[in-house]
Amino acid sequence: MSRNQHDEVLILWDVDKTLVNLGGFSRSLYQSAFLSVTGKPLEHLAPMAGQTERAIATETFELHGIRASDELFHRFCTALAKAAQDMKNRIHEIGKALPGAHEAIASFEKKRAVQSLVTGNIQPVAKNKLEAFGLADRLDFEIGGYGDYSKDRPDLVRFACERASTKHGVEFSGKRTFVIGDTPHDIKSAHDAGAHAIGVATGNSSTQDLENAGADLVLTSLTGIDALHNMIQEQ
Ligand SMILES: [Mg+2]
Repeated sequence: MSRNQHDEVLILWDVDKTLVNLGGFSRSLYQSAFLSVTGKPLEHLAPMAGQTERAIATETFELHGIRASDELFHRFCTALAKAAQDMKNRIHEIGKALPGAHEAIASFEKKRAVQSLVTGNIQPVAKNKLEAFGLADRLDFEIGGYGDYSKDRPDLVRFACERASTKHGVEFSGKRTFVIGDTPHDIKSAHDAGAHAIGVATGNSSTQDLENAGADLVLTSLTGIDALHNMIQEQ
């Protein structure tokens, strides 16, 4: 089927508490990577929900009195990726794919849609987390917006749109882009970048929180996403 650039859409999934819930896995990664690059145990951890790796790491280093230079941050990301690889076998013990995640991704398979991520995780960590549950196959990891790119999540959405447009030769302006995430940060960053924002209340934010943040659509879970398909159809 030839692609019609006027109706193709870009679907950008958040990872944690949207597609998977890995409990304290992200904290374990931080403990390992922090010890590896500083030689000190992790005593404080900045708030993680909806934040990017660059923001979390910078604040976490500052909480320990350490200036987060670019060089340190780069080494920290390398250590995070290694920790995620080393601990990949443990992901199943402590986490799970969220209900409907497989079906939701599969439901776009025969649609005119490109699927990737906007996540606070760095790319190798996101890939490990999703591969562990068989959720990675239909997602394009060559594009997307990841947490080492910027402290500010809207930058990740804009970057993901640019990369998708360049790779696919389709102009994924904001209106052709649908960001799906579990926190008000996901909603705000989508709107700041001119994209549609879909909230899914499988994290710590309620449907009311996501509505208050201005979500264009709020889902209680990914088990039924007909409303999302209808919304895309109506654009
Ligand atoms: Mg999340």
